[in-house]
Amino acid sequence: MTKLDLAETSHRRFNPLTGEWVLVSPHRMKRPWQGKRESVPAAGLKAHDPDCYLCAGNLRANGARNPDYTHTFVFDNDFAALSPDAPPERIDKGLIVAEGESGVCRVLCFSPRHDLTLAMMEVSDIERVVEAWVEETINLGGRPDIAAVQIFENRGEIMGCSNPHPHGQIWATRHLPNEMEKEGRRQAQYLLDHGRPLLVDYLAQELRLSERIVSENAHFVTLAPFWAIWPFETMILPRRRIGAFDELTPEERSALAAALSDLTRRYDRVFDVSFPYSMGFHQKPTDGAVHSEWQMHAHFYPPLLRSATVKKFMVGFEMLGSPQRDLTPEAAAARLRDAAPQNLRSARRSSIPLSGFPSPVREGRPLRRRSGRSQPRPA
Ligand SMILES: [Zn+2]
Ligand SMILES: [Zn+2]
Repeated sequence: MTKLDLAETSHRRFNPLTGEWVLVSPHRMKRPWQGKRESVPAAGLKAHDPDCYLCAGNLRANGARNPDYTHTFVFDNDFAALSPDAPPERIDKGLIVAEGESGVCRVLCFSPRHDLTLAMMEVSDIERVVEAWVEETINLGGRPDIAAVQIFENRGEIMGCSNPHPHGQIWATRHLPNEMEKEGRRQAQYLLDHGRPLLVDYLAQELRLSERIVSENAHFVTLAPFWAIWPFETMILPRRRIGAFDELTPEERSALAAALSDLTRRYDRVFDVSFPYSMGFHQKPTDGAVHSEWQMHAHFYPPLLRSATVKKFMVGFEMLGSPQRDLTPEAAAARLRDAAPQNLRSARRSSIPLSGFPSPVREGRPLRRRSGRSQPRPA
């Protein structure tokens, strides 16, 4: 019998956070790709767009006018998916079961600048975003009708984000959403069995192995999880046990902002394109219980596969069986480690040499194909 080689042979990996498996097929990286190619949306954005409903001073669809904000700006979503006054009534007729779900949907503008992304923002400005997440967690989580505060960002047209203005969302719900419920159950069971939080033990093991670490600072570690599904999926984990945003010290808030800047700039470097993703934070429920099993963390799920224009789809076996990936998390972590964090804005000005993964377009502008891959471009 041959030995299982995780870099060469098909295998499945267990996700202890959800209790689910992912199929990994490293040998398939050699096959030719003839799937769908995405076009990279044209950039060329202005600092202020008079037609953008998120820019400072502009009118929104419901007639409200945005203030002339200078850092972050939070408001209730004009087209909220949840209403705060949905009755808690339950319909229970055999296998037909439903219940009213109430909640609050907020929008958080990261910056008044229409043309920026987290990767292009200064760390000090991302700190203001982290402060806003802390405040929203406290305010929404403090309500008796809210059990979970889900913070997330959908970035890029490829992810279905209709507005390029840097912004995220906060959905606070009466019930735990599926992912939080699954992860909470698994973390509670692990704490019961081992006496330590699951993600604290997981981080310790990853730091010992050092195969999937992307970068680290004094308070946070970025890694490609062993069970990752998306090609360049990562997690940001705190070094100490932290249940939720409101437990972060001022130093940890700054360190989290630095970790977000570092990761998003690495992403932009991988294919030399403003990298699309869905990201979000999981934190402990706000139902008033202690939840010492919970370790707050961020998930980044980027859809890009092998260039700026090739996207991963979850279809076929993945829809009906298990998720599947070709590029191993170890290989993805190595590429992210090697991708020096890049600010696309300054890179455009200062002609930083492009990385070894040529892409046909960069920031929407056609690029001339380079003959020497690592040759610095003329200033
Ligand atoms: Zn805008
Ligand atoms: Zn999670």
